[in-house]
Amino acid sequence: MTARIIDGNALSAKIRELLATSAAGMKVSHGVTPCLAVILVGEDPASQVYVRNKVAACEKAGFRSIKQVYPPNVEPVTVLAKIAELNADPSVHGILVQLPLPKHFDAEAVLEAIAPEKDVDGFHAENVGALMQGNPRFIPCTPYGVMKMLEAEKVPLKGAEAVIVGRSNIVGKPMAMLLLAQSCTVTVCHSQSKDLAFHTRRADILVAAVGRAKMITGDMIKPGATVIDVGINRQDSGPNAGKLCGDVDFESAKEVAGLITPVPGGVGPMTITMLLANTLESAERTLK
Ligand code: NDP
Repeated sequence: MTARIIDGNALSAKIRELLATSAAGMKVSHGVTPCLAVILVGEDPASQVYVRNKVAACEKAGFRSIKQVYPPNVEPVTVLAKIAELNADPSVHGILVQLPLPKHFDAEAVLEAIAPEKDVDGFHAENVGALMQGNPRFIPCTPYGVMKMLEAEKVPLKGAEAVIVGRSNIVGKPMAMLLLAQSCTVTVCHSQSKDLAFHTRRADILVAAVGRAKMITGDMIKPGATVIDVGINRQDSGPNAGKLCGDVDFESAKEVAGLITPVPGGVGPMTITMLLANTLESAERTLK
């Protein structure tokens, strides 16, 4: 059996078209353009790429974007002052600070400084709490994108065994909350989990969000399962050295799974798409 591939690029393109249409409509009806402000501190190459992609996606969808870049040694107070300024600017609907921040920053304090109603990443404690209560204001973009993929593929969720590998605040934990809200039976695995394969083999829906290249192999997957690969890793050896791969060993997994996301071209584009969706939603709320 060979799994059907969930094409994140195609689904993203479809959703982004709808978002662009809504943004254009908002401009005509209310004279408002959704606006996302992105703050980047330092010169981390991966972060630079992510920020560039986010800004480009905004522009392509007809959103306004503000990109504020600081050198790695900037004083946190300067960044906090910028966040306060963006919080107070009614033309800005979404603010995100690209993570990771340099070591001299208290990342939590920076995320808490963003006004919760503009926190389009959904990382502010108030928004995390709202998600936990089942009443989210902004759903963190990566798990939101995964839910959209499951919805688009009509994957049955009620009563399904969902296993998430990884318990980070930005992927694993919110993913667990969202699947739980859809009545999955959720198991969250992490670095201290014993016998990982025992858990993954029970999964009707398996989400890998670890950051370890190809760690989930075909023999760890239940036949017919839906496999969502969030991981983004650069291969450092072999014939594909330098190329991206996921946490799932795609070649062996696709022979067992029923549905599978590739890397690249799976969850990655959906994450940026849902960032746009959150920004648009934030702008829409200001019109009410
Ligand atoms: P973190 O490093 O914050 O979390 C990784 C998680 O994996 C931790 O909970 C850790 O456990 C767990 N883990 C580590 N080793 C093992 C192991 N051997 N077995 C089981 N669990 C393990 O990563 P993120 O959640 O931020 O990101 C995960 C991956 O997803 C990365 O590759 C990242 O690049 C990618 N990513 C992709 C996005 C996209 O748009 N596609 C967006 C965000 C992230 P413990 O808590 O015990 O340390």
